[in-house]
Amino acid sequence: MKKISPLFILLFLLLVQSGFGQTKDPVVESIVKEATENSQLEKLAHELMDVIGPRLVGSPQMMQAHEWAVAKYKSWNITAKNEKWGEWRGWERGVSHIDMVSPRVKSLEGMQLAWSPGTGGKTVTAEVMILPDVADSVAFQKWLPSAKGKFVMISMNQPTGRPDYNWQEFATKESFEKMKKDRDVQTEAWANRLKKTGYTTRTLPVALEKAGAAGIVMSYWSKGFGANKIFGAYTKTIPTVDISLEDYGLLYRLSESGHTPKISVRADAKETGVSTTFNTIGEIRGTEKPDEYVMLSAHFDSWDGGTGATDNGTGTIVMMEAMRILKKVYPNPKRTILVGHWGSEEQGLNGSRAFVEDHPEIVKNIQAVFNQDNGTGRVINISGQGFLNAYDYIGRWLSKVPESIKAPIETRFPGAPGAGGSDYASFVAAGAPAFSLSSLNWSYGTYTWHTNRDTYDKIVFDDVRSNAILAAIMAYQASEDPVKTSREKSILPLNAEGKPGAWPEQRKPIRRGGLD
Ligand SMILES: [Zn+2]
Repeated sequence: MKKISPLFILLFLLLVQSGFGQTKDPVVESIVKEATENSQLEKLAHELMDVIGPRLVGSPQMMQAHEWAVAKYKSWNITAKNEKWGEWRGWERGVSHIDMVSPRVKSLEGMQLAWSPGTGGKTVTAEVMILPDVADSVAFQKWLPSAKGKFVMISMNQPTGRPDYNWQEFATKESFEKMKKDRDVQTEAWANRLKKTGYTTRTLPVALEKAGAAGIVMSYWSKGFGANKIFGAYTKTIPTVDISLEDYGLLYRLSESGHTPKISVRADAKETGVSTTFNTIGEIRGTEKPDEYVMLSAHFDSWDGGTGATDNGTGTIVMMEAMRILKKVYPNPKRTILVGHWGSEEQGLNGSRAFVEDHPEIVKNIQAVFNQDNGTGRVINISGQGFLNAYDYIGRWLSKVPESIKAPIETRFPGAPGAGGSDYASFVAAGAPAFSLSSLNWSYGTYTWHTNRDTYDKIVFDDVRSNAILAAIMAYQASEDPVKTSREKSILPLNAEGKPGAWPEQRKPIRRGGLD
């Protein structure tokens, strides 16, 4: 008989350890099969993003989304409810029509900001003027009356509508450098122009409103073709509209060259009073340890320039799909599996902070929270969030995930506790093991994050499907784990002042927002 060399045995053991010949887990297999062969992601995305639309806190669409989610869960035989946690200013977006009517006619691409006052059912036509470059705040006060009846442009005119990556590809090095230098100078000059008024970007629109301006015109370019970020308005009686870089530049140049452009604005918006804010909570009850919890987590609200497709429609449908699959293939989990769809993450993690504050008994008994909230991409990073032993259980659970999904994931242990950014931080602050399933970026910051381009077509369903499988397997594994997860915190590295780093503190949610 031939002798087997020890080296061969060692190699064989290594292969076994690395998953070669790993015994197949029937639940994992069923999760993959269900996610692949019976995916509901496209349907969920269409219903949420296209039919309901964006989910601004306090808007009727946010409420509609909560009701839709509960009905969806019921149709899958999953218990779900909407839990009240606060109140917010109610506002409903109507149409925004912005047209240049002089010196020629052109319909402009733009929309009112969230919470912008409308034009009271009328179309307001007025001249557009550029915020003047005054000597100081005294001079600005003297100028202010000239804003009466005008639309005032308060953003810098971008020198180029081409993103830097486009310059990088085609410009000569000299020309790219020159453009960047000029843009820096211009950006500083514009910041100075604003500063000299004596107001900030927040208070300037209000000052112009008080002076009788017809409206505020701005353009918050997101540094990609066609993409603008759309946040909230500060005005109380006159509309604040955001206009695409191209159309803003057109108005700006016409104004500069003395062609006194005029625009017509029709903005409909409805104040709907005080609106109740909710979290949608779904549950698959545990059989052996019902009072220990595994939680899937994603914020449900969005900004409303687009439809919140990747922020955070994708995180939302990942967790819904994971719950649907778990209920089907793993209906009797050991621990209770919860899903949290949070309200008002965008204004400061309010829904999840409220949940943590309202449910200490759950937070105390959390096995793990998995949150996803940075776009449509497949997960490529998981940090241990500063929990000393996270490497042990996260590592074990991940070992059950199919190689193609697991391979690109970089883990960092113990990592540092997240103090914000998304809802896992609300749990980390309370000492509960909560983790971010962090995605490949797909130009998230430039093209979709809080932009008018965050829409269904930006969803990469194969990546989202892979994330639903990952979330379902991690929840399954966390539920089955024979031991409760350790919450021991690592000693944090010294901070800038040379003092030991401190664990983030639990913070209170805003329970009454946008209401004076
Ligand atoms: Zn988000």
